[in-house]
Amino acid sequence: MPLPPPSPRPDAVIVGAGIAGLSCATLLAEAGMRVVVLEASAVPGGRARSWVDPGTSDVVDIGPHILLNKYGNMRAWLARLGTEHQIRWQTEELLTVLDKGRRIHFKVHGLPAPLHYVRNLPRVLPSVPLHRLLSNVPVAWRTMRSTPAEIRALDNQSGRNYLQAQGVSGAFIDWFWASASMAFLNLPVEACSAAALMRIFGHMLGHSDPAFGFPKVGLSDLYAWPAIRHVESRGGQVRFDCAAAGLRRRDGAVAGVVLADGTHIDAPVVLAVPPDALSGLLPASHPLARVASRFEPSPYVSCYLWFDRKITRSRFWARPWSPREFNTDFYDLSNVREGARPGSLIATNIIWSHRANGLSDEAIVEATLKEIADFAPQAREARLLSAAVHRIPMSVPCSRPGIESLRPPTRMEPGLFLAGDWIDTDLPFCMESATRAGALAAEAILADVGRPRSLALPVPEPQGLAGLLRRRTPAAGR
Ligand SMILES: Cc1cc2nc3c(=O)[nH]c(=O)nc-3n(C[C@H](O)[C@H](O)[C@H](O)COP(=O)(O)OP(=O)(O)OC[C@H]3O[C@@H](n4cnc5c(N)ncnc54)[C@H](O)[C@@H]3O)c2cc1C
Repeated sequence: MPLPPPSPRPDAVIVGAGIAGLSCATLLAEAGMRVVVLEASAVPGGRARSWVDPGTSDVVDIGPHILLNKYGNMRAWLARLGTEHQIRWQTEELLTVLDKGRRIHFKVHGLPAPLHYVRNLPRVLPSVPLHRLLSNVPVAWRTMRSTPAEIRALDNQSGRNYLQAQGVSGAFIDWFWASASMAFLNLPVEACSAAALMRIFGHMLGHSDPAFGFPKVGLSDLYAWPAIRHVESRGGQVRFDCAAAGLRRRDGAVAGVVLADGTHIDAPVVLAVPPDALSGLLPASHPLARVASRFEPSPYVSCYLWFDRKITRSRFWARPWSPREFNTDFYDLSNVREGARPGSLIATNIIWSHRANGLSDEAIVEATLKEIADFAPQAREARLLSAAVHRIPMSVPCSRPGIESLRPPTRMEPGLFLAGDWIDTDLPFCMESATRAGALAAEAILADVGRPRSLALPVPEPQGLAGLLRRRTPAAGR
């Protein structure tokens, strides 16, 4: 039976209870606004949700997620929700890469950016000759001297073409940049936007203290349910199994949403949905629907493997990307989560997983087991107690050349606001982008009712020598 329209009329209706929608709802509810969040599915969290695995009764995420300590908006939001302590930060090392059987432990050292990587040289040189490493100096110099607008202007070039044109050795592109593109942008380096890739490079060069963090609890318990409690305790409402089916218009402005059951809710609208969901909400001729149709999903396959014993003491390791292999990042959740059972629970990601499409779940588990054993040989003796394969149609949209320039703004038209990781946030498509997009939408709604507030934290500026270079020469790099 359809729910009655909310009474009194809400101050905002938010479509989508993923990170972006819930970030927006939290901030608006805190500012005293009455919000209604509509979620099409029966549970919150969208692409960052968790559930109870039916085989083991353990909580698993849709796929393992990792945070960066520079996720300022997300960390501030988790602090609001009282769950920031549920992140386990890896401070002793940045990451371990298994390169042709050799473990490379990347660390960051107290030198000013970008020199913080220099002390990794002895660990890296057995894998990469010095001249290949040095072939990156011109592109690093140029990236540090470029303004954000100059980086954006690279959007029509592919990552590989741009790196080659800057003199980076082909072998180094295959060894490092192919993996970086896959890990951060979720598509091959020849298919990614040079602007998206160089923005990440600028970030790597400009921050000397990067650290990864892993949720100690399922993602839904990290933020989704706490955000819903936060909203509801301030008079807001979250409705599940409640899909928005279209927009209502009055006098040339968006007046509210029409629900799938034919009822409507009038209020300023925030669409916090991914690009592929817009086709169900807007006519195909709408400019936003046309833009959204250009965003292509990057698919994932995530595996969860339960072993009868500990097979590693590591939290996280990675393998360089190769089209002949499957998984790139591996997590032993028994070393991350509190109160985990005695054996290892390994979660993995196959990024850009088209090559796994024709494979059965059993074949994927078999390939994953072999790849885990390359790092943790104990996996060969251990008994596999259970396995789950999650096939995920979209992790994030693909940052293809030209896509950065298409990312839409927060304000679409009177009465209509956008949020979501794919909105123009100056960040790659990720959880931090979704959280920031939600905050930008909340700012816009509050400004329209004459209560402007600064809620979205800026993207961190480069620090150290990298920061000095950019500030002194804002127009340099051409
Ligand atoms: C396997 C995997 C691994 C990832 N790893 C990382 C990582 O390590 N680090 C990182 O930062 N990011 C990672 N990401 C990306 C991250 O999860 C997303 O960037 C983020 O969750 C996007 O949030 P969102 O709110 O923008 O969109 P979504 O999560 O897609 O939320 C949109 C919500 O809108 C709802 N909806 C859609 N249409 C309607 C409608 N008509 N009416 C009502 N509701 C509707 C959907 O059901 C959904 O709940 C990963 C993603 C996946 C899938």
